[in-house]
Amino acid sequence: MVVVGAGAAGLAAARRLAALSRRVVVVEARNRVGGRVLSHCFPGLREPADLGAEFIHGPGAETVTLLRESGSIAVETGGDAWICAADGELQRDDRDFDEAARALGAAHSLGHDESAERFLQRLESDERTGRAARSARFFVEGFEAADPTRASVKSIADELRSGVDARSARPLGGYWPMFEHLRDACLAAGAELRMSTIVRKVSWRPGDVELETIERGRSQRIVARAAVMTVPIGVLHQHGDEGAISFEPDLPSIKRDALAHIEMGQAVKVVLRFRKPFWEEINRGRYRDAAFFRCWAQPFAGYWTQFPTRSTLITAWAGGPKALALAGASQAEVVELALNGFGALFGDQKLVCGEIEDTAMHDWHGDPFARGAYSYVTVGGGHARMQLAAPVANTLFFAGEATSTDGQGGTVNGALQTGERAAMEVAAVLGARES
Ligand SMILES: Cc1cc2nc3c(=O)[nH]c(=O)nc-3n(C[C@H](O)[C@H](O)[C@H](O)COP(=O)(O)OP(=O)(O)OC[C@H]3O[C@@H](n4cnc5c(N)ncnc54)[C@H](O)[C@@H]3O)c2cc1C
Repeated sequence: MVVVGAGAAGLAAARRLAALSRRVVVVEARNRVGGRVLSHCFPGLREPADLGAEFIHGPGAETVTLLRESGSIAVETGGDAWICAADGELQRDDRDFDEAARALGAAHSLGHDESAERFLQRLESDERTGRAARSARFFVEGFEAADPTRASVKSIADELRSGVDARSARPLGGYWPMFEHLRDACLAAGAELRMSTIVRKVSWRPGDVELETIERGRSQRIVARAAVMTVPIGVLHQHGDEGAISFEPDLPSIKRDALAHIEMGQAVKVVLRFRKPFWEEINRGRYRDAAFFRCWAQPFAGYWTQFPTRSTLITAWAGGPKALALAGASQAEVVELALNGFGALFGDQKLVCGEIEDTAMHDWHGDPFARGAYSYVTVGGGHARMQLAAPVANTLFFAGEATSTDGQGGTVNGALQTGERAAMEVAAVLGARES
């Protein structure tokens, strides 16, 4: 049995399968596990910065269990939310997120699907819903990392119904210890991890799979009875570049149709490390308990602290079209924009520039093994995640956040669940003891 990808879904699938079957090989292109979970350690700073996934959205049962196993816990975010008003002043506004969820949730009862953009424009043109429209646009572009002209508003409304936005927490000490634990649990259960091994081609027929791989420059072949594919949707969309995978024969048309209706959302996340949490002291401590700052007019529309943890880190976030707008810029330019934007919130660039100590980011858009942040469904793709999740000829199985069908697409917890689901599908077909 072979699992392609050692992110949340791949490791969850491998751990379950190793416990059930004789042999599981996990093939991973990178030299590390975790995929879109990537913790960065600043020299001399105890808490790591998560450059990929950071929050636990919704109840996150699988994540909470894994955190407990790894000796960590989830910490609720809480804190104050601040928003830039039309005059540029920061105003306290903790209802923003609920307002967005309510406004977008109404799309659930639409008779037909439409783009989030059309839906938002209707809200924006009505004075009574103008404020909610602004929050909803931030949600679609910022939280969903989606292009509103392509995103399915009905799918967003359905996801909101799942409660994925109902709670927000973080793993204490970041996500990495949980992934280290998951990796070790896979190894302890007998799974083999083949790192730095890029899958180029999957040749298959019912009951047989052959992977063509490149391992540190050398071509290899891996044969198995079945494969669990967990690579990101951004990778499945690629042709011919470094991470791209071709299928021989091609995937069935229902699968290709599903792929055409799931897009990779884009996000740029920059972590700024300051000498001290100076924002806590501005304006007689007004922002001492700040968790989020939002300013729609800026290239980075969102900034957040590590509240309730007192920390010197600030995260700058640009999602959807704002992330794409940054695609051609150098990392130095991106970091400068993030820094300037944070200064603009307080009208004091000098203070911010004087306090900066270090920065970190990862280019997820250019990363050949991700090609973006996380998936969203495009107009008319109501069944796409389910179609993508379905096995092909009981031989190719699919997991990964994009195959999550219960509203947890785009999340770590959704990915973990899909890995478990795919493992059980394999076990049901092969029996627990076949490899
Ligand atoms: C900036 C950013 C912020 C995010 N914030 C959050 C958040 O706060 N909360 C949250 O829940 N989620 C968040 N996410 C999303 C979350 O990271 C993902 O949903 C989740 O990690 C996906 O897990 P996965 O196993 O489906 O995919 P991945 O983690 O991408 O794993 C797939 C694996 O396949 C490997 N692979 C790709 N191509 C090949 C190939 N050709 N051959 C072999 N291996 C290959 C990759 O290297 C990777 O390790 C964020 C993501 C990003 C990028």
